[in-house]
Amino acid sequence: MTEANADRVDVNKETLGFQSETRALLDLVIHSLYSHPEIFLRELISNASDAAEKLRFEALGNDGLYEGDSQLEIQIEYSGQQKTLTIRDNGIGMSREEIINNLGTLARSGTREFFKNLTGDRQHDSQLIGQFGVGFYSAFIVADRVTVSSRRAGLPPEQGVRWESDGLGEYTVQGVLRKKRGTEVVLHLKDEFKEYLNGWRLREIIRRYSDHIALPIRMPEEGGGRTGWETVNRATALWARPKKDITPGDYDEFYKHIAHDFEKPLAHVHTRTEGKLEYITLFYIPSRAPFDLWDREARHGVKLYVRRVFIMDDAEQLLPRYLRFVRGVVDSSDLPLNVSRELLQRNKTIDTIRAASVKKILGLIESLAGKEEYKTLWKEFGRVLKEGVVEDPDNRETLAGLLRFESTLHPGDEQTVSLADYVSRMPPGQEAIYYLAATDAAAARSSPHLEVFRKKGVEVLLMSDPVDEWVVMHLTEFKGKPLKSVSRGDLDLGGLETEEEKKERQGETRELKDLLGRLRKTLEHETKDVRITRRLTDSPACLVADSQDMGGNLERLLKAVGQNVPAAKPILEINPGHALIKRLAGIEDEARFNDWARIIFDQALLAEGGRLGDPAGFVRRLNALIVGSLGT
Ligand code: ADP
Repeated sequence: MTEANADRVDVNKETLGFQSETRALLDLVIHSLYSHPEIFLRELISNASDAAEKLRFEALGNDGLYEGDSQLEIQIEYSGQQKTLTIRDNGIGMSREEIINNLGTLARSGTREFFKNLTGDRQHDSQLIGQFGVGFYSAFIVADRVTVSSRRAGLPPEQGVRWESDGLGEYTVQGVLRKKRGTEVVLHLKDEFKEYLNGWRLREIIRRYSDHIALPIRMPEEGGGRTGWETVNRATALWARPKKDITPGDYDEFYKHIAHDFEKPLAHVHTRTEGKLEYITLFYIPSRAPFDLWDREARHGVKLYVRRVFIMDDAEQLLPRYLRFVRGVVDSSDLPLNVSRELLQRNKTIDTIRAASVKKILGLIESLAGKEEYKTLWKEFGRVLKEGVVEDPDNRETLAGLLRFESTLHPGDEQTVSLADYVSRMPPGQEAIYYLAATDAAAARSSPHLEVFRKKGVEVLLMSDPVDEWVVMHLTEFKGKPLKSVSRGDLDLGGLETEEEKKERQGETRELKDLLGRLRKTLEHETKDVRITRRLTDSPACLVADSQDMGGNLERLLKAVGQNVPAAKPILEINPGHALIKRLAGIEDEARFNDWARIIFDQALLAEGGRLGDPAGFVRRLNALIVGSLGT
């Protein structure tokens, strides 16, 4: 592959414009990465290495693609005279159509989200770019002209293609004759980046960022007559090396390569399994969620290798969906090289590797608990992990242990309370884990349902993430303690209620029988029942869901996403100790009683974040009551 690849240019030259997003991205890449210009080389080498892996895989089924040259490698060459730096590979190459699609447009999923997140503030945006992955466009950090010549493996030499751009807005594509398959990227370096026309400097960068590339990266020998090529990197698959030979920096750089991420990962776990099945896994947890985390079609992040040969990206059979943020490599010695996606779906080896991988990753996550990293992890991926509680019954207990919530003892936007913490703080007599689900954090924190718990000093978990209630429904208990909603069913405080309180309550019920009867009648369309509360100390009333009903919060959430939910009436609970309720009991006039009852019901609905059926009526009745109390 070292011989000159004499390109003969044809006439079929087109000038095309970059997609507008591509131009914006280019601009951002150039400006935001100005402080680390050398990463362009890492990115281009990473692409070349991917191209080689793709060829090796395609060639498994078609040996002819090698065209007699199966020594895959990457070459780096520079010319001080021409001020060019060349990155060459004999990988899969690109056809004319591929070069236009890959280098002129941004087809990647999540691109739109990426642009939505841009603020125009370079400082902020440059952090995003790292997360997005910079790829090929980083070439324009250091070059004012980039020429890419390529031929896809399997196509005849006449179907070579040359792409060229100054990175400003347009690019040209033309057909060229290319004897060798693969891709050659020529950077015409800007004057201020002449430092890269130096063999020593280039070797340093390659060893720093690309040592883990499994392919040889070769450069012409320095000095003398420049006779041969020498390999600059270690050129072995990183994951196959003994752990003790891999530095934290090596792990980080390898992550950046496979994850197309610019930032360091949060943590990794690397294991080699020997015995009946032989495989190596290396998994990483990124430090930031990708843009497409919520895209059902998003690619998965684990690459499958068979005995070091790359088989496929995004192998979705390797990990469950709720671990879709994990990046890494699985290398099996037991799968056939021609394994297909279909075959993976019903393969015992894969099932075993998958189950073990999930355990390893959950173990890694558990090991971070209590550390600073866990806060980041929970903030970025907590919501995805919650899906696991629902989807993965085998690991439900472990996953439940990873959950974090806000609670009445630890309020605030950061969720820090684990179920285990909660259980360890339960006072004697408390038998259940209490939680309150509300539409938002503020509504949860000030909910009247919490009053009795506050009075008794009992902690309640506060849930305001829409998925929480759905998750808890699948998690009926933790360490033998049932999870109970404080806003559903008859509140059973169990051992937390004193004998006196129980007696008092029974007494009240008799005394207030008449009032309850009148309220039930007045509010018969709005409520299922009216009863004396055990939850309230300060508020006059609250709404509760019947134990089998969904509850106001879940009902509202489902309606919001367009689901048809049967409307279940709530139960109104009143607080007989409250002045408003005491006065209510004394009102003889039916019309006035009716107005008061309605106000109390509407207030209770408002307090739990619900919407009034007749807001204007509420205001009118409330005003009438205020005017009345002013005594005018
Ligand atoms: P990414 O590598 O993150 O997908 P890039 O912008 O770096 O994004 O590259 C875009 C695409 O161009 C790649 O996905 C690949 O299909 C193609 N490409 C880039 N470099 C090469 C190369 N050396 N050989 C073959 N294809 C390449």
